[in-house]
Amino acid sequence: MIAQSFDYSSPESVSEALKLLAGKENSRVLAGGQSLIPMMKLRLSAPAHLVDLGRIAELHYIAQTDGTIRIGAMSTHNQVATSETLRKSCPLLAEVAGRIGDVQVRNLGTIGGSLSHADPAADYPAALQALRAQVRLVSQGKERTVSIDEFLVDAFTTALAPGELLYEVIVPADAAGVGSAYLKLQQPASGFSVVGVAAQVGVSGGKISTARVGLTGVGSRSYAAKPVEAALAGQPANASTVAAAAQKAADGVDPLNDLYAQADYRAHVARVYTRRALEAALGRAK
Ligand code: FAD
Repeated sequence: MIAQSFDYSSPESVSEALKLLAGKENSRVLAGGQSLIPMMKLRLSAPAHLVDLGRIAELHYIAQTDGTIRIGAMSTHNQVATSETLRKSCPLLAEVAGRIGDVQVRNLGTIGGSLSHADPAADYPAALQALRAQVRLVSQGKERTVSIDEFLVDAFTTALAPGELLYEVIVPADAAGVGSAYLKLQQPASGFSVVGVAAQVGVSGGKISTARVGLTGVGSRSYAAKPVEAALAGQPANASTVAAAAQKAADGVDPLNDLYAQADYRAHVARVYTRRALEAALGRAK
C-alpha cells in the first residue's frame, strides 16, 4: 500500500521542530522511519504533517559528565552500540543496541524513535529499566524529566503529550566493578525480543551488593524485576542464590500470548533467561 499524502518539513533546530509540531494539527515526528514509515504504508498511521528530525545536529550526541551519560534522541542504534563512552561506562546499553535488528535497522533506527514507538518487544527498555534511566521531554517553552518506567505507559503508548519531543535519554555510568549482560530469545525474522533480559550486578566480599534486572517482551510493557532484585541483595554471589531469585522474574506480570510464544512458555523463558543473564553478569563483575 502507499501512504496517505502528507506535508513534510525538515527543520534544523529543536525550537523550529517544536514550533512546527505545535502549529499544525496531526503532526508527527519522523526519526529513522523504521517503524513509522511501515505503519504509514499500512495506513495504521496517517499523519497530515511529518516533521523530520534528521537535520537537527543538536539531537546527535553521546556525552558523559561525571557519573551521568546523556544520549541525544537521534543517536542511531549503531552509534549507541559502538560508542566508546558507553562501552566503557555503560556497556549494557551498548550491548543491547548491538543486538537490535540488522545492520540497516541499526544504521537508521534511533534510540528516541524506538522508545517513542514503545513496541513491547523492543530491546532498549530492558536495559533502561535495569539502569533506572530517565528521559528528558521538551515542548514549546516547557521541559520535564521522567523515569523510563513512567515514560513507557503500555504497548505503543508513552507519556509524550501532543507537541512534545523526546530530547535525550539519561543513564548513570556504571559503578566500579559491576558486571552486566543482555540475553534475548528473538523473533527469528525481525530480531525483536520474545523475551529480553538485561542484568547488572555488583559484588563485594563475596556478596551481591547491587542487583538490577529489566525485562522486555514478556508483558505489554517492560519492567524492572524488583522481586528478583530484592531476592539477590546482600546474598552470597553464587549459582543457587541466582537460580532461586530468577524464579521470580515473571511474578506479578500478565505474560503476552501471541504467535511467537504462549503465556506460560514466555514466563518460563523469562525465568531461565534471567538466571542466565545474571550468571553472565556475575561472571563479568570484578
Ligand atoms: P520512527 O520510525 O521514525 O518513529 C517511530 C515513532 O516514534 C513515530 O511515532 C515517531 O513520531 C516517534 N518519534 C521518533 N522520534 C521521536 C522523538 N525524538 N520524540 C518523539 N517522538 C518520536 N527494534 C528492536 O528493539 N529490536 C529489534 O530486534 C528490531 N528489529 C527490527 C527489524 C526490522 C526489520 C525493523 C524495520 C525494525 C526493527 N526494530 C527493532 C525497530 C527499530 O528499532 C526502530 O528503529 C524503532 O522502532 C523506531 O525508531 P526510528 O528512529 O526508526 O523511529
